[in-house]
Amino acid sequence: MPRTFAVFALAFAFFAGDAFAWSAEGHRIVARIAEAGLTPAARAEVDRLLAGEDDPTLAGVSTWADELRETDSVLGKRTAKWHYINFDGRCGFEPPRDCPGNNCVVTQTNLMYRVLADASQAPEDRAKALKFVVHLVADLHQPLHASPRDDKGGNDYQVNLHGEGGNLHRIWDGTIIKRRGLGFDDYAQELLQTPLPDDPTLASDRPVLEWALESCRLVEAGEVYPPEGEHVIDDAFLDARLPLAERRLREAGYRLAMLLNHALAPPR
Ligand SMILES: [Zn+2]
Repeated sequence: MPRTFAVFALAFAFFAGDAFAWSAEGHRIVARIAEAGLTPAARAEVDRLLAGEDDPTLAGVSTWADELRETDSVLGKRTAKWHYINFDGRCGFEPPRDCPGNNCVVTQTNLMYRVLADASQAPEDRAKALKFVVHLVADLHQPLHASPRDDKGGNDYQVNLHGEGGNLHRIWDGTIIKRRGLGFDDYAQELLQTPLPDDPTLASDRPVLEWALESCRLVEAGEVYPPEGEHVIDDAFLDARLPLAERRLREAGYRLAMLLNHALAPPR
């Protein structure tokens, strides 16, 4: 009996929680990278908006949007679809098809950005918008949060790792980066050692969509899934995808800083 329970507990641990986002660690890494890129003016505005928070840092509020499921079930339910977009077969954006009711990560990131950038909005609303932007920019860089495939962002793609069942979404949310065994702060410091090369998406007039489409194309290009039909994965699979997972965290962090700098201290 104890042995059966241990096996069950392990399996449960692997499945626990909805596959919903980068793991908490992933979100904190992205937020910490962004924190390092804030201008002094944006930094001051972030401090002002987050003044009442338990941990008034970008990393400290980076998982708030996921925690809503437990802390505010009404808002959690209303915003559940804001964490991802399903591109339905191809990497192109048709809002009525891909974002019904504006409930997808692309449109909501843009809407929250607008609230954040509008100094005439109530500070509580701007603080909430800031917390969504910090979270959603990270989510849309997780390739399976903006996928063209019809499997709920890999949640329905079962995998077996080391004899344990799970799904591909959770592997990308956390398993790949957890293998490094680094705390989020150390991880962010390491990723900050590599600057982002020229980033053509920053010249786009719809950068948020470009970032989601990048995720979509990574899935399309075969960089995210095991070879077709394979469901047993191993450490070599995780290691081979680590550089991409880390690149997406880094891109999300640098780009988040850029967005916040624009929203909070627009050049005049
Ligand atoms: Zn999320």
